[in-house]
Amino acid sequence: MEGDLRAEVTAWIEAHWDPDRSLLDWRRELYASGWAVPSWPARWGGRDLPRSAEDVVARALAEAAAVGLPLGAGMGLAAPTILAHGPDSLRERFLAPTVTGEVTWCQLFSEPGAGSDLAGLTTTARLDGDEWVVSGQKVWNTSAHHADLGLLVARSDWDVPKHQGLTYFVLPMHQPGVEARPLRQMNEHASFNEVFLSEARVPRDHVVGEVGEGWRVALTTLAFERRFGAMARPSVVPSAGRALEEAQVEAAEFFETYKWYPQRAGRPDLVVAQAQATGMASDPVVRQEIARLHALQRASRWTAERARASLALGRTPGPEGSIGKLALSHVARQAARVHSLIAGADGLLTGPDSPLGGVVAEVLVSVPAQSIAGGTDEIQRNILGEKALGLPREPAPDRDAPFRELPRNA
Ligand SMILES: Cc1cc2nc3c(=O)[nH]c(=O)nc-3n(C[C@H](O)[C@H](O)[C@H](O)COP(=O)(O)OP(=O)(O)OC[C@H]3O[C@@H](n4cnc5c(N)ncnc54)[C@H](O)[C@@H]3O)c2cc1C
Repeated sequence: MEGDLRAEVTAWIEAHWDPDRSLLDWRRELYASGWAVPSWPARWGGRDLPRSAEDVVARALAEAAAVGLPLGAGMGLAAPTILAHGPDSLRERFLAPTVTGEVTWCQLFSEPGAGSDLAGLTTTARLDGDEWVVSGQKVWNTSAHHADLGLLVARSDWDVPKHQGLTYFVLPMHQPGVEARPLRQMNEHASFNEVFLSEARVPRDHVVGEVGEGWRVALTTLAFERRFGAMARPSVVPSAGRALEEAQVEAAEFFETYKWYPQRAGRPDLVVAQAQATGMASDPVVRQEIARLHALQRASRWTAERARASLALGRTPGPEGSIGKLALSHVARQAARVHSLIAGADGLLTGPDSPLGGVVAEVLVSVPAQSIAGGTDEIQRNILGEKALGLPREPAPDRDAPFRELPRNA
C-alpha cells in the first residue's frame, strides 16, 4: 500500500515539478492535486488518506528536491485547528492560502496575567453590529510583528464560569487597533512580542467553532503545539530555479525568528565533538553525563516514534505529547549541563574566541525557554498526573463561579 502510494506521488511530482515556476504557482498546483495535505478530507483539498501518507509525500518531495509546505504556525497550528472546528466559511477562506504560504499566522493566547492559567484571560471581545471589537493585551506572541493573521482567544462573556466565556477568533493583524512590540530576550534575540489590542476589529463570522466554545478550540491548538516538536530546517537544496530561490527566501525569513531554537534545544549534537576537541572526553564525570544525555535522547526519540506510529494507525493522541514535551526539556537541560562541564566558566563568554564561537553561552541562556513555551513542565506533569495516571484533579475553586465575580489582581 505504502509502495503504491509512493509510486503514485513520485510519478505526479515528476510530471509536475518545475523549479522555474513561481513558488505560489507550484504550491497552488500541489494543493489542487490533493498531495499537499493527503490526510485531509477531499472536500478541503486532501485525499482522505491516513496520516502516514503525509510522511510518504514529504519524503517523495525531498527526494525530488521539490519544495513542500510552508513552515510555522500556519500549517502547525492554524490549519489543523480550523480544519477540526470550522466553520466551513473559514475553512474555505483560510485553508488554501495557509497551505500555499500566502498568509502567515501567530498565536495570541498568553497574557501578562494568564499563561498556565490560560482560561483566566481578560482580553475582551464584544459584538458591535457586524464586527467584534477586541481590547486587551497579549504577550510572548512569536512572529506577531510580521504575521498577517492571529489565532486569538478572548473573553466574550464575563457572566459565566471562566472556561465557558471564551471565544476563538481569526484576527486580521494589519489594522490600527493592533500594535505588536518586539521583546528583547536575554539571549539578545527578539522573536516574540507584546501585542496591544485597542478596539481591534474582527469580522463577525471570523469565529472558529462557536461563540463560547473557545476553550475547546484552544485545547486543539495546544495539542498540535505539543506535537509540533523540534524545528527542523527544510530540506531545500540550494540550486537554481525560481521556486527554489523563493523557498529559500521564505525559509530564511522564517528562521530569522527561530534561529535560536536549536540552542533552546540544548545543541546535544555538539557535545561529543566538543568534549573531544577540548580534551575532556576522557574525564569520567563528563563521560558519564554524556552517556546520560544520550540515554535521555534515545528515550525521547522512541516516545516520539511511538506517538507517530499510534497516530498513523488512526489512534487518538495519548499522553505522548506531554511526555515528549517534558522529555525535550530534560534533554535540553542535560545538554546545557554537559556544555557547562566541558567549557567551565568560559561557557559564559560570547564572541568569536569563546567556546563554539558563543554558541555555548547562547545555549545556557536559551534552554530555559524550552520548558516554558507551549505549556511549562509543571503543567505537563499536571496533565500526565490527571489524564494518564488518574490522580485527583488539581483543586480549582475558581472553576464554577461567574468569571466576573472571581478575585483578580488589579
Ligand atoms: C519561546 C516562547 C515562545 C512562546 N510563544 C508564544 C506564542 O506564540 N503565543 C502565546 O500566546 N504564548 C507564547 N508563549 C507563552 C507561553 O505559552 C507561556 O509563557 C507559558 O504558557 C507559561 O505561562 P507564563 O509565562 O504566564 O507563566 P506562569 O503561568 O505565570 O507560570 C509561572 C510558574 O508557575 C508554574 N505554575 C503555574 N501554574 C501552575 C500549576 N497549576 N501547577 C504547578 N505549577 C504551576 C509554572 O510552571 C511556572 O514555573 C511563548 C513562551 C516562550 C518561552
